[in-house]
Amino acid sequence: MSRSIIPDLKKNVVWFLTGSQDLYGPETLAQVAEQSKAVVAQLAASSDIPVTIEWKPVLKSSDAIRRAMLDANADDSVIGVITWAHTFSPSKMWIHGLNALDKPLLHLHTQANVALPWSDIDFDFMNLNQAAHGDREHAYILSRMSVPRKTVVGHASNPAVTASIGTWSRAASGWAAARSMKLARFGDNMRFVAVTEGDKTEAEIRFGVQVNTWGVNELADAVHAASEADIDALVDEYLAAYDVVPELLKDGDRHDSLRYGAAIELGLRSFLEAGGFSAFTTSFEDLGALRQLPGLAVQRLMADGYGFGAEGDWKTAILVRVANVMGAGLPGGASLMEDYTYHLTPGEEKILGAHMLEVSPSLTTAKPSLEIHPLGIGGKEDPVRLVFTADSGPAVVVAMSDMRDRFRLVANVVENVPLDEPMPKLPVGRAVWKPAPDFATSAACWLTAGAAHHTVMSTAVSVDVFRDFAEMAGAELLVIDNDTTLKDFQKEVRWNAAYYRLAQGM
Ligand code: MN
Repeated sequence: MSRSIIPDLKKNVVWFLTGSQDLYGPETLAQVAEQSKAVVAQLAASSDIPVTIEWKPVLKSSDAIRRAMLDANADDSVIGVITWAHTFSPSKMWIHGLNALDKPLLHLHTQANVALPWSDIDFDFMNLNQAAHGDREHAYILSRMSVPRKTVVGHASNPAVTASIGTWSRAASGWAAARSMKLARFGDNMRFVAVTEGDKTEAEIRFGVQVNTWGVNELADAVHAASEADIDALVDEYLAAYDVVPELLKDGDRHDSLRYGAAIELGLRSFLEAGGFSAFTTSFEDLGALRQLPGLAVQRLMADGYGFGAEGDWKTAILVRVANVMGAGLPGGASLMEDYTYHLTPGEEKILGAHMLEVSPSLTTAKPSLEIHPLGIGGKEDPVRLVFTADSGPAVVVAMSDMRDRFRLVANVVENVPLDEPMPKLPVGRAVWKPAPDFATSAACWLTAGAAHHTVMSTAVSVDVFRDFAEMAGAELLVIDNDTTLKDFQKEVRWNAAYYRLAQGM
């Protein structure tokens, strides 16, 4: 039974807004409408774009543009708008609408035809197909008004164009999910830890996420209210889905621990569903009446699309939820991750990432093993957990830190690699990766940025999706990839400190 809360992105709608003006007369305007419908049809036919692109009537006046933007704001299914000044759409007409718009904007700089009709071209053609300068007028007002946006250039049939729009529409879906996100914290942050702290009010202002705390015993009550019949059914699901170690089987010595793990999952789900939460945190220091640290349950909930952060880390929980939404329908997944320990053999450097328990099995296509082992900290019963290794392949890790005057996102492009040797004594979900551009540069840049030890790892979306997301949020994003040098990165960090302070105004 699927309990996934990963949305169907086709239900997310992007309005395609075409700019023109009455000057051209009805005949030309009819052609403008026809051509912009053809662009929308080409975009809609591309499998790169996971959302629904909806054509809207051509905009020819300030009032119509303002109304379109207000309507886009008011419709919860609309996650953004694409604008195209097909002909010449004088930009003062856009001022009121752009002032009103509070959703992401993509400026598509395109035209109807691919080739110049060299032998046939006349001035009527020039008059109709003048986005080459119409869009420059459009971009002027976008820049002058500092409208955050993505600019995509090229013909709608060009795969690079549809891929860029697809990337942006995934980011806009993540942004819409952030702005409707309710996050439940069970217990507070791990004591004395700095980086998992942060300004929860600012998080709601900046990202739209509502971050609030519930006493962990409210969760424990929900866990202990799980019915035996529901536990039976969920245990059967575990037995079918995983390689379960003998001691956890129905006739095994420790089967009761698995039943308790199932109760945690049932209680957590019922609590989250009742409150409309799509992300949550736990804290091993604050488990109240819970008998185990939630492991298996948290792993499965992340794979179902929930955001999660350990040790009260609500900022990473936001990122895990957003990454789950942005990657909807793609192979791979998103998980809490923590840089744990290194393989420092020169030239072969790798990072082993894991957590105490809470790594999402969406990072593997293999069948995880369901096991029980002691946990050295927390003073509770041994927790059940899924054990596996993340699939090899490209991935990205992204962290969020609160720099006091802003949130800073830091992303590292990485490559998950096979284990050099099996690790039979490490009973947790884990990933081993090589960071770009190389281990020393990656780690030095990460530390220079003060980026967190908790991250979201996504094996579904590229860093470009996070780039578009950061633009929508107005959040700082520092990227460590194959083009990164420590020298330039240090400068970017320094310049950003000034930029983000200035950009906030007084
Ligand atoms: Mn941790």
